[in-house]
Amino acid sequence: MEKKLCGVVAVVGRPNVGKSTLTNALVGEKIAIVSPKPQTTRNRVTGVVNRPWGQMVLLDTPGLHRARSKLDEYMSQVVRHSVADVDGALLVVEPMAKLGEAEEELIRRIKELNLPAALVINKIDTVKKEDLLAVMALYGQAHPWAAVLPISARTGEGLEELETVAKGWLPQGPALFPEDMTTDQPERQVCAEILREKLLLCLDKEVPHGTAVEMTRFVQRDRDDVIEAGATIFCERESHKGIIIGKGGAMLKRVSTLARQDMERFMGEKVFLETWVKVKENWRASDIQVRNLGYRED
Ligand code: GDP
Ligand code: MG
Repeated sequence: MEKKLCGVVAVVGRPNVGKSTLTNALVGEKIAIVSPKPQTTRNRVTGVVNRPWGQMVLLDTPGLHRARSKLDEYMSQVVRHSVADVDGALLVVEPMAKLGEAEEELIRRIKELNLPAALVINKIDTVKKEDLLAVMALYGQAHPWAAVLPISARTGEGLEELETVAKGWLPQGPALFPEDMTTDQPERQVCAEILREKLLLCLDKEVPHGTAVEMTRFVQRDRDDVIEAGATIFCERESHKGIIIGKGGAMLKRVSTLARQDMERFMGEKVFLETWVKVKENWRASDIQVRNLGYRED
């Protein structure tokens, strides 16, 4: 049997060019926020494209820079190299024969990092075919692209070819993420990790190895954009539960406050966090349960 491929591809470009739309189209689900307002995507959306040939992890990012955000860090941990070491980059541009500062900077970074890169001319549904030639010519002079791909993320035109090109950059290897991972899980997962991290920090070695965190609730309120998060901390013994909650709830409050602050930094959004502690014996017993709980082998 043929070995599966797996790697990371950065989707870069100035705001509003359609990076999130492209990510969603490839993943086949609405995961990234698509908005006519620029800047909805902070550096945080990860698309996991699962195919019979393997897995392609997309970083939908405004720029190419070193790991900075919590998700970048998390991704780097999972991927085991920095975001700058992605396997390839897709530079998404408007179908206009105009090379702005943003594009120039990104092309500079692509050269610096010696990244395999393709030029993705998006929104071709809005222009005449003959107008594309000038766009191709202009960008063609700026960099020796692995491919120039006219696409419409909206209609799906050109996406198959794009996938073929990007797939060509991926090394062989096992999938980085569970294949059935739903797309809001990266954020959920990171938040669960953050809470677990704070437990480890505050409780030292007393309890934490027998703990797992499940994000039971994770919704963004429409009216004020606040993220309502609910988390359950599972521990193995009643005595552990007491330690985690602490005198008058002081420990749980401390852990929750620290976690909430980090979650807010990570998501760039206000978070309302509620935490509960439950005893669940032998929670390691079932793998599925373990994964469901947001526990990850290091
Ligand atoms: P991002 O900021 O680069 O992530 O861009 P978004 O994916 O949020 O898209 C910005 C706007 O461009 C949204 O209104 C999208 O609906 C629109 N858009 C994205 N792709 C296409 C496309 O292929 N054709 C057209 N006509 N509009 C698109
Ligand atoms: Mg976006």
